[in-house]
Amino acid sequence: MKTKIAVTIGPASAEPEKIKEIIELGASAFRINFSHGNVDEWKRYVDLIQDACKNLNKHIALIGDLPGPSIRLGEIKDKVILKKNDLAKIICKDRIEGSDEKVLPIPFEPFFYNINVGDILLMDDGRIQLQVVEVEKGEVTVKALTPAEISSRKAIVVKGKEIDLPTLSNRDLEAVRFSVSNDLDYIGLSYVRNVKDVELLKSTLASLGGVELGVISKIETVQAVNNLTEIIDASDALLVARGDLGMHFGLEQVPRLQESIVEKCLEKGKPVIVATQLLGSMIDNPVPTRSEIVDILSAVRDGVDTLMLTGETAAGKYPVEAVKWLKKVIETYDLTITPRKIRLPRDADIRDRFAEGITMLAESLRASIAIYTKTGKVALRILRNRPNVEVYACSGYIKTIRKLSILWGVKPVKVETLEYFEGLEEMLSTLRSSGEIKSGEVIVLTYGLKDEPIHLVKIVQIQ
Ligand code: PGA
Ligand code: MN
Repeated sequence: MKTKIAVTIGPASAEPEKIKEIIELGASAFRINFSHGNVDEWKRYVDLIQDACKNLNKHIALIGDLPGPSIRLGEIKDKVILKKNDLAKIICKDRIEGSDEKVLPIPFEPFFYNINVGDILLMDDGRIQLQVVEVEKGEVTVKALTPAEISSRKAIVVKGKEIDLPTLSNRDLEAVRFSVSNDLDYIGLSYVRNVKDVELLKSTLASLGGVELGVISKIETVQAVNNLTEIIDASDALLVARGDLGMHFGLEQVPRLQESIVEKCLEKGKPVIVATQLLGSMIDNPVPTRSEIVDILSAVRDGVDTLMLTGETAAGKYPVEAVKWLKKVIETYDLTITPRKIRLPRDADIRDRFAEGITMLAESLRASIAIYTKTGKVALRILRNRPNVEVYACSGYIKTIRKLSILWGVKPVKVETLEYFEGLEEMLSTLRSSGEIKSGEVIVLTYGLKDEPIHLVKIVQIQ
């Protein structure tokens, strides 16, 4: 598959058999959503995934997703259930013990003095809507505009308002520490607003010895869209978070935003993930809708690197079936569709022009491309051209291999050696003995343009 699949793990999928099946189906990454659960639960998820990868001898990326600066409900014992037009109270507290009372806790004081009568509160990708009807000191009364089943820690969007919050809360910091000490590969920054948020996370990671973790900025707020270019430049990857985008903007704006964010990421050569409601109906049904299939196809056409399942696999009734369907749709189209190529600007970096040249050479020769990369950067420069041929990227560094797995159109190959030319030789013999490449095939071997007196690009015809 050129377009990759990422799967959010949660109560619906956290079983050894299901994880195994999902990996065997070809998932390239798992996401742990740190908005839910606690360290023990996250650890159980990591162990399940790492054990399954070991047993299957697969290297896939582990993404930890920080809650980020958002207003969230505190703990509710069971659920608060509201019918349309029911009234409920919101109070400034960490937790509510009883379940029958219509009271919601929000443990964040500034919420209460930023809120006005008439404001609309959205939850659950906008399916739950509450309108503020009264604001008293320290207490807000809301009316349900939709029926609502409200559980703990749900993120709340106040429509049209962005309430100032610190970038990393104590829970975020706990999750960052967890990600570094458990060898995760990427860390998602939710509700990123500007480049400073990204820089703060990067410096926090560096201070904890986690510089190698890639930062995925989740574009979901108005500010993030306004500061998109600088956020893309500062991030290692981007995520189009359609759930929250659809709450911060009108729902009808989501396709336009998705298209422009994806295009900008491809222009800048940064990996881009599209998430949420790709197969939303499969939370309850074993078969997707027609329109969901068309939606997936449009992302494949745009050249998105990775499609990420969220609620479907975390909390849905058919987690494995959802992965099967996503794979089926991708596989049906992905070999016949070549995403549009982005042209490099005239003043592009010489290493990018070299990568474009390698792509053109391999495409003319109908040859595969084989790359040795230490950090993954060379592979990224080549892949941004969306080569119309097989691309293999090898590395002796396991984290690089796992990070590469979410990139469009590349097959990562783990080798032993840490050196460029030996690495390429080792990859060739691995691919030959596994039958992946056959006699007669032509392969262009590169490790990117290096500053050396004579630079070698090898073309090999397999005997
Ligand atoms: P979430 O992010 O699942 O963490 O909210 C994805 C989205 O908003 O679409
Ligand atoms: Mn979100």
